[in-house]
Amino acid sequence: MFVLVAVPVPNLDLLTYAVPDGMRTPAIGARVVVPLGTRIVTGIVVEIAASSGAERKPPNGECGTPNAAGRTPNSERPASNVKLLREVLDREAFVPADVVALARWTAEYYAAGVGDTIPALLPPMARGGRADAHKTMRVAAITAAGLQILDGARGFPPPLKPRRTAAALAGAGQPSGAGGDERWTERLALGPLTPKQREALELLAGTSTGIATPALAARGIAADVIARLARHGYISVRQDRVDRDPFPVSVGSDRGQTGVGLGSDPRLTPISRQLTGEQAAALERLLKLAGAGDFRVALLHGVTGSGKTEIYIRLSTAVRDAGRRVLMLVPEIALTPAAATLFREAFGERVAIQHSGLSDGERHDQWQRIRRGDIDVVVGTRSAVFAPLERVGLIVVDEEHDGSYKQEEIPRYNGRDVAIVRAQRAGALVVLGSATPSMETYHNAMTGKYERVVLERRVLDRPLAAVTIVDMREEYAAEGPDVILSRALRAGIGARLDKREQSLVLLNRRGFATAVFCRQCAGTIDCPNCSVSLVVHGEGAARRARCHYCNYTARVPSACPLCAGPYLEQTGFGTERVEAELKAACPGARVARLDRDAIRRKGALATLLARFRTGDIDVLVGTQMIAKGHDFPRVTLVGVVSADVGLGLADFRASERTFQLLTQVAGRAGRGEQPGEAIVQTIYPDHYSIQLACRQDYPAFFEKELHFRRAMRYPPFASLVNAVVRARTFAGAMDDAADLVQKVRDADAVRGELRVLGPAPAPLGKLRGEYRAQLLIKGTNRKKIRDALQSALASRPDLQRRAVVDVDPLSLL
Ligand code: ADP
Ligand code: ZN
Repeated sequence: MFVLVAVPVPNLDLLTYAVPDGMRTPAIGARVVVPLGTRIVTGIVVEIAASSGAERKPPNGECGTPNAAGRTPNSERPASNVKLLREVLDREAFVPADVVALARWTAEYYAAGVGDTIPALLPPMARGGRADAHKTMRVAAITAAGLQILDGARGFPPPLKPRRTAAALAGAGQPSGAGGDERWTERLALGPLTPKQREALELLAGTSTGIATPALAARGIAADVIARLARHGYISVRQDRVDRDPFPVSVGSDRGQTGVGLGSDPRLTPISRQLTGEQAAALERLLKLAGAGDFRVALLHGVTGSGKTEIYIRLSTAVRDAGRRVLMLVPEIALTPAAATLFREAFGERVAIQHSGLSDGERHDQWQRIRRGDIDVVVGTRSAVFAPLERVGLIVVDEEHDGSYKQEEIPRYNGRDVAIVRAQRAGALVVLGSATPSMETYHNAMTGKYERVVLERRVLDRPLAAVTIVDMREEYAAEGPDVILSRALRAGIGARLDKREQSLVLLNRRGFATAVFCRQCAGTIDCPNCSVSLVVHGEGAARRARCHYCNYTARVPSACPLCAGPYLEQTGFGTERVEAELKAACPGARVARLDRDAIRRKGALATLLARFRTGDIDVLVGTQMIAKGHDFPRVTLVGVVSADVGLGLADFRASERTFQLLTQVAGRAGRGEQPGEAIVQTIYPDHYSIQLACRQDYPAFFEKELHFRRAMRYPPFASLVNAVVRARTFAGAMDDAADLVQKVRDADAVRGELRVLGPAPAPLGKLRGEYRAQLLIKGTNRKKIRDALQSALASRPDLQRRAVVDVDPLSLL
């Protein structure tokens, strides 16, 4: 027998090993120890085969080339070379077989090695290790002997018999714990109880289950006290398995006070609340779809604040009651605070959360609980799509349009799309939720491929925010070219401060100034490693110029490095500058900033969100992070500074992203009792994505954008595969890309189905010291694109490490 094994090594495809005589053939999904070159590694069994497979076909025929570009297909070695399995670590599947198959599909579809997908399948500590490492905790409990001596210490007659003790003393030094006389001996050898020992015993005498040693330590009882008592048999110490609970607050405790970002306002528990008519109708349709028990995809298109979460929870409850399990994907747990907490309220202990913010230990424990079947609902970010959950009946992808579902490193999968494939295989319902669906999803809903369920109104008929567009060109004319906050926005914030309401201010650009510019030679200070200018962070002595791509940091020079001229000027502005402007414009206001720089410290994000929620902050400035899914009922004003930031990017999704961001951020206003308002500053007040976002007119945006996509042959009318080649020189990168372009064209010459754009310098032409050139392939059949590209790459093994293939790219930078 042979097994095909995936090992967590980049760029590796399946490896074939022989099962030694006498060893049981492992199950698909079991972990095995195998030799790899000179190393010994742990892998996962993906397939069992009767032959070593020199001429085996790809098993499920979904992908013609199971091997990613240029990779050596080890599974095609002749039998004589096949090495033996060393060891089988699991009697049964460690990863469920269908999840293994899903990972294999992901590798094929996204042109990665199967080995690249393995880390997503395993809990962090199981990767290299053999044992099921899980945290244990020492728990001390009092023994009968302990109770006796405590009684003695409390003044009850001691139970010991002196004669026996004296005899036993002669043989002191025996190890403890064996029972009988030795224990008596040791006990006497302890002498009278010290105050600490007595305190420990008193504490323990009060509980039948024992107390964890950390808890004892917290009460001042040190480890040596416990060790000593245990050695004498007065207490027993056992190892309890503990599942670290990543939920910062336990069910029923006082949420919102913990400063962890998962808190929310005290509100009614979800189940007891009356659904609005629209919600009830939407739920009913989704329940029907779920009840059918087979694969379906539904788009839940609900405006911001329409109460989608409520629907997810009720639907999940129904699916759980029908004996199936639920996977709930969110773009980023810390930024979509409601989901995890609300699910915890509805499902209690049977909810697990999975995301990269957890410690390895927490993630591991949660993974094990899911695997053991102790979990009905997994709430997680994109990698949770590979959670080892069985009998999945529902997968919810909340904010399905969100770019964080796409992994921007190998394997470059989109969690939403993998979720759909998983549901298809499991016969489950997928609900894609969004106020601003991606073009692809909405297109599928319009063509009838997906069901479309609509929520057109906010709950309790709260109005959507009224949006005003401020034409910044007029503002510059009136107020001067340096103005950042328009008069309308300043007045709006001032009014909110007077009413003790809160404001959010969005600028999707970090830093203080976005460039340093020389007035003499017009040069800018650029990153030496990347083709971008450095961004200034901080002011005064703390001022530094930093590259947002490679983190190169330098002092801001006082003279131009190019012409030595002294006329350096900072241009452009980011969130730090807006924060400073706001503080200057609104003295006394409590202004804070939320962007990637502000939340570097662990816990900083949670603290900021909690402070904003409790009203400790009046005005919160931030990047798109502040737009995501938050439900802050006291926010009545959203300001957008430079709504057009994203429109300048050379990316066919620029308009879509701008529309989504503006709609989402405007959706943060007026979610409570008071109606909301949004003020949008732009220099392109007529751009359709800005205009239509301000009117919150999704269908009109979709129609308009669809025209453009059709004309330009972009998704959803074509599939895209992007390839970027890196090289030490610009010419080298361009030559290699040109070669690939030629080979792809040759491969397609007969049929002429593909359109190859390039070679072209990538928009980010130099990154971390390497030059980048790009080719973009369009076609209607993704498999053909991938096949053509992979065969081109296979003829250039030297490019294996220098070419990155991105199937269904979200960003072409
Ligand atoms: P969405 O995700 O669609 O933007 P949420 O699910 O965050 O909206 O809901 C918006 C707000 O409305 C939340 O504060 C939620 O608690 C509240 N809500 C949801 N459904 C109802 C309802 N039926 N009655 C009253 N309030 C509701
Ligand atoms: Zn750089």
